[in-house]
Amino acid sequence: MTCPSPFMTPEREAFRTNLNRFFDSEVKPNLEKWEADRAVPWEMHERVADLGVFGFGIPEEYGGLGFDDAFMRADYGEAAFGCGASGFAAAVGGRSISIGPISRLAPENFKRTVLPEIIAGRMGSALAITEPGGGSDVSNMATRAERKGKGWVLNGAKAYITGGMEAQWFVVGARTGGAGLAGISLFLVEADSPGFTRTPLGNKQGWHCSEQAMLHFDDCQLPDTALIGPENKGFLAIMNNFNYERLSMIAGSLGMMKLCYTSALDWARERRTFGQRLIEHQVIAHKFAEISARIDMIEAYLERICWAINQGAMPAAEIAKAKVQATKALEFTASEGMQIFGGASYLVGNPVERVWREVKVMAIGGGSEEIMRDLAVRQMGLAGQ
Ligand SMILES: Cc1cc2nc3c(=O)[nH]c(=O)nc-3n(C[C@H](O)[C@H](O)[C@H](O)COP(=O)(O)OP(=O)(O)OC[C@H]3O[C@@H](n4cnc5c(N)ncnc54)[C@H](O)[C@@H]3O)c2cc1C
Repeated sequence: MTCPSPFMTPEREAFRTNLNRFFDSEVKPNLEKWEADRAVPWEMHERVADLGVFGFGIPEEYGGLGFDDAFMRADYGEAAFGCGASGFAAAVGGRSISIGPISRLAPENFKRTVLPEIIAGRMGSALAITEPGGGSDVSNMATRAERKGKGWVLNGAKAYITGGMEAQWFVVGARTGGAGLAGISLFLVEADSPGFTRTPLGNKQGWHCSEQAMLHFDDCQLPDTALIGPENKGFLAIMNNFNYERLSMIAGSLGMMKLCYTSALDWARERRTFGQRLIEHQVIAHKFAEISARIDMIEAYLERICWAINQGAMPAAEIAKAKVQATKALEFTASEGMQIFGGASYLVGNPVERVWREVKVMAIGGGSEEIMRDLAVRQMGLAGQ
């Protein structure tokens, strides 16, 4: 955006500069290899952790930063998803969507010993909510936990779990009570629990350098302390946690749009057709006006939401609406970016080609566009008035 943001601060500028330096020097040169390898080396988890980005909102005694800042959370999301392969953000990010519930709900001893290892990138954690039978209707989850003796027995399965093959700890949603949202609790499950197995997800359209897993719980034995947070009150914690995941996906979509914009612009300034550079054809120039407007709108919306969060609010309806608008804008931008590149966009290795393959995971993951609109309507109290 050409007009300055009223929300930019010297601290944030410095943070963004630091992020850019890191991604330019340590991530971007290796992305092609990591995508081909279908993996990011584990030391990158630690290098990303060194930026402090897994410690927002967590006290220092648990390995966190001791402060929170929604703008900086978003700045990281923009950089990590927009680096050229948004799967990189997912590869190191299974922990970021599970750290929230762990830091709020896990037993004190766990927060003092294991959580710092996760925040420092030395150990992996993942969030396991989606099931083979459905992800959108969280209140209908079928995985069940039952008390047995001094512990719990878990039965069921989870699908598409990011970081699921490498993580040591899982935040798992399971039914402990009756039907509906009031019967769900959260459990902290260690990977070597008896009765727990995992299998990698098949070949994916995108996010190649990240891994996802199916988790299987067959009479999985858990200690009493595995239940985190109050019994049958897990649904609210899951919903609260989704807000931060969605914030990062809005910011991520923004970063991916900027990547499309800058790479297509470089191309349009270089490529000549009919005796002129592409950018000199009005039809092509107008595409940039449209893309740029969408980038500006998403950025402004995102900053407004970040400001509200920093004031102590959690504007769930705005986050839901913004996620839909961000992924719709991303879809438009990737499509127009492909048109601008022409045939070159159809070749693997073109930056916009990869974004095009990554659009749908942003539009479906973390709450699909349909479900986000539904949530916004409910949060705004529009239905039933
Ligand atoms: C690469 C990847 C990584 C993921 N990582 C994780 C993870 O780490 N942890 C995790 O728990 N989950 C993860 N997910 C799962 C993701 O959050 C779900 O895919 C998503 O929530 C949608 O659930 P579903 O796929 O079961 O679709 P379904 O719920 O079966 O829905 C199918 C379609 O129907 C639409 N739909 C459903 N209900 C309605 C309705 N009432 N009205 C209108 N339309 C409706 C949906 O919007 C969707 O388009 C991941 C998914 C992918 C692809």
